[in-house]
Amino acid sequence: MVKFFRYICCLLPVGRFQIFTLTMIDLVTNTISLNRGDSHDENRQGESFAPFAIVPNQYQKLFYIESYGCAMNFADSEVVASILNKEGFGATRNVEEADLIFINTCSIREKAELTVRKRLTEFRSLKKKKKGMLVGVLGCMAERLKSKFLEEEKLVDLVVGPDAYRSLPGLISEADGGQKGVNVLLSRDETYGDISPVRLNSNGVSAFVSIMRGCNNMCSFCVVPFTRGRERSRSAVSIIDECKDLFEKGYREVTLLGQNVDSYYYSEDKIQSTVDGQQSTAHTITFANLLESVALISPLLRVRFSTSHPKDITDDVLHTIVKYENICNYIHLPVQSGSTRILQLMNRTYTREWYMGKVDRIRQIIPDCGISADIITGFCTEDENDQLDTLAIMEYAKYDYAYMYFYSERPGTLAQRRYKDDVPEEIKKRRLHEVVQMQNKLSLESNLRDMGKTFKILIEGDSKKSDQDWVGRSSHGKVFVFPKENYNLNKGDYVMVKANDCTQGTLLGSIVNSPQTTDHSN
Ligand code: SAM
Ligand code: SF4
Repeated sequence: MVKFFRYICCLLPVGRFQIFTLTMIDLVTNTISLNRGDSHDENRQGESFAPFAIVPNQYQKLFYIESYGCAMNFADSEVVASILNKEGFGATRNVEEADLIFINTCSIREKAELTVRKRLTEFRSLKKKKKGMLVGVLGCMAERLKSKFLEEEKLVDLVVGPDAYRSLPGLISEADGGQKGVNVLLSRDETYGDISPVRLNSNGVSAFVSIMRGCNNMCSFCVVPFTRGRERSRSAVSIIDECKDLFEKGYREVTLLGQNVDSYYYSEDKIQSTVDGQQSTAHTITFANLLESVALISPLLRVRFSTSHPKDITDDVLHTIVKYENICNYIHLPVQSGSTRILQLMNRTYTREWYMGKVDRIRQIIPDCGISADIITGFCTEDENDQLDTLAIMEYAKYDYAYMYFYSERPGTLAQRRYKDDVPEEIKKRRLHEVVQMQNKLSLESNLRDMGKTFKILIEGDSKKSDQDWVGRSSHGKVFVFPKENYNLNKGDYVMVKANDCTQGTLLGSIVNSPQTTDHSN
């Protein structure tokens, strides 16, 4: 797997296991996160894809695609792969043999952009060696940097925004003919609902399914509403069909993806037979309805979702989680800051107390619910009291995991226009370090509370360290590693595992009985 990010991670000896602690400091994207595999997985930054072995001469041309940013971007790369595949292009992980190189970009923090720029310069030298090779920029950086990349720096041949992937084949032909292929138009209705994504680098067990695109919130620090456009929901039928298809292909977990999944809203016309003939009525589907429909596909299909804005997650959603054992007891509920004053400047539309009330409500309805958060340190005007509020709210919520960032001013955002980025970088970083220390403590405490308990684990594959051990997850999203022993199990199976030992990032367990395919505990 090709990765272009650096991280600091420690090897901790735990019993007979050697486990990577899952706290990583990503020097490129100023992010610290736990490896959860959901909204923003630092392990996957710069990952390149190839879903299948290349059959010689099967494809007229080969493409290489490298992805950065959040899970939505990785899901988009699968849509791009599907579009290119239909046009006769095959995926390769070897950049040197590619005819087309794509980089699917993220604008969320400045350092992510710098990484992309560096990669583009590397691709430019490859291009000089291979006649006819095309380089393209996809995704969030496309709109903002199109003229810079195309005209000023002459780094690329194609620039394609997140809503314009259907035009890729035409743009490639234009670029082949020597013109620059550009389409960065944002759309109000594109959802790629009818495109069946090619699963890239999948473990064959869990898959991402986009349910909506864009965002209508205006968090003042965030560039997403500008790079990905207005919010729109994908048709429920196409989402359910995609999930059914995944289940039939052997997948056992889907994560429904959107910037703000709880505001999912789709209105479908239903034709009903009436005494006078037929009548069309509008039928509205909320996120709770959608969750339920996906859960009903099979009790063996686990359902996750990300991300929930605290202002939008409803009791209906919480009750639906409780109603279906296969909807995971886990909610990613970004807080961003624990200070009401800063939350107001961030335009998050809730106060510290309101957020704490939401955590209480989750715990009241789903007593056994994993909760994680996104946190930003060093936002404009943040002082030491605000930082103390953030540390205190983390303790209050007892987060199981967190994605932690220091503030990076983004051009065009409300914060950039209205406020001064006045917290010095070393203070932002020191506060980030404090937040990370707090999260390490909370994650360890959370795992220690699980010692001696038994969990239903979905096996994802061999552990990274040894093919004698399985790695899998509990409903709460916790990573378990356990010996295979003599059980006849495969990835995609469920098994009951008792937690015996832990680090802050991983639970070490042992199988307590044979696979439980219909068990309704945990
Ligand atoms: N829509 C999701 C939400 O509202 O929680 C997540 C969107 S964003 C892709 C993921 C996270 O990146 C945010 O929750 C925030 O913590 C972080 N982020 C966004 N803009 C940032 C910025 N300018 N500087 C630092 N972190 C930022
Ligand atoms: Fe950005 Fe806020 Fe939308 Fe999340 S909800 S994508 S942080 S504007």
